[in-house]
Amino acid sequence: MNLLVVGGGGREHALCWKLAQSPKLSRLVAAPGNPGMARHAACVAMSVDDHDGIVRLAERERADLVVVGPEVPLVAGLADRLRDKGFAVFGPGAAAAALEGSKAFAKDLMTRAGIPTARYGTFTEAAPARAFCRELGAPVVVKADGLAAGKGAIVCATLADADVAITRCMERREFGVAGATVVVEEFLRGEEVSFFALSNGAACVPLSAAQDHKTVFDGDRGANTGGMGAFTPVASMDAAMHARVMREIVEPTFAGIARDGAPYRGVLFVGLMLTAGGPKVIEYNVRFGDPECQAIMAAMEGDLLPLLDAAARGAPLPTPDPAARAAVCVVVASGGYPGRYPTGLPIDGIDEAERVPGVVVFHAGTALPDGGVVTAGGRVLGVTATADDVPAAVEAAYTAVARIRFEGMHYRRDIGRRNATQEAS
Ligand code: AMP
Repeated sequence: MNLLVVGGGGREHALCWKLAQSPKLSRLVAAPGNPGMARHAACVAMSVDDHDGIVRLAERERADLVVVGPEVPLVAGLADRLRDKGFAVFGPGAAAAALEGSKAFAKDLMTRAGIPTARYGTFTEAAPARAFCRELGAPVVVKADGLAAGKGAIVCATLADADVAITRCMERREFGVAGATVVVEEFLRGEEVSFFALSNGAACVPLSAAQDHKTVFDGDRGANTGGMGAFTPVASMDAAMHARVMREIVEPTFAGIARDGAPYRGVLFVGLMLTAGGPKVIEYNVRFGDPECQAIMAAMEGDLLPLLDAAARGAPLPTPDPAARAAVCVVVASGGYPGRYPTGLPIDGIDEAERVPGVVVFHAGTALPDGGVVTAGGRVLGVTATADDVPAAVEAAYTAVARIRFEGMHYRRDIGRRNATQEAS
């Protein structure tokens, strides 16, 4: 099969690494890809927003399957464009991708389908939004409706903070049009889990669960980032919880979106809170998580390609083999990230890091001008290790991270250690 993967971050590197192991693969092309993906794929410089260019590339490459990694092109309708041209596409069309593209739409679907989630209200005016915050009481969560690169959810400890958050979204327009509508919701307490399921438009199968670490500093302190690390499996997601999440959340979500006339072909990433009252949805994403994908791909048994292909074509979905191993991804970031950071700094030690048994280094923000790999983004590398259990994978990942050097690099030292504490307690 000829495959085209759209995207150029750590998530897409992990997908390409896994797909490259498939005996069914003939040719792998990535747009735009990155220097790490270039080991497995022919990389074509192209923006993921250049839908015309991507359609032409798929035609030129006679792609049997197109896998769309990031949410922005999905929400903007890239999968529809490609399907209209007859391509099999892994990734939902715009109507279904609204599950991520509009939090108000997602909450409305959950209400209609009876899916457990936080109490909420949707507002286009600041005054009633502020009044609803008072009705719920602090802490409360204020969310920009649209895509905001993971930064649009503001957890507010006090009503004064909530007032500021509403001002930032609706009056100062810090998130642009994404914040013109806000969702105000009840604060949920519990453990957060990222749950992944595949759908072919009619049926669905669970894939895996992981946990990520969103804040920049150890102990879940500091600003939110795109994700500083992830691990799988998650101790609290036992077989019974998997089955409950499928029954109460995932299956009704796919059924609800199909009733809306938008059958879902791709991966659904459900952000869950395991509350005292059971699992509840925090958010939907219409693609793999980054960096959860790195850990899930590393731990995954069997061939990924037939799963993605069946989902894309609406064919019967094979049951994914349960992962027998654990995996941990530690993100190594540029100095200053998630604020301003320099780029173009030389990176040393990637090969040495990959000599640690079980380790693969996924590239996220790197470039390869003449003379060697340099930094080119905030999250630079995802150092990923597989082992028999999470503590052993943590150990291997940090042994590898210690071999990587670039000026100003920083990373969290506690990735995967939350799981160890849970298991011990
Ligand atoms: P989101 O962009 O909706 O995933 O939100 C980002 C983060 O904010 C989540 O991963 C949670 O840690 C937190 N969050 C969002 N909504 C809630 C909620 N209703 N209760 C508690 N925490 C939340």
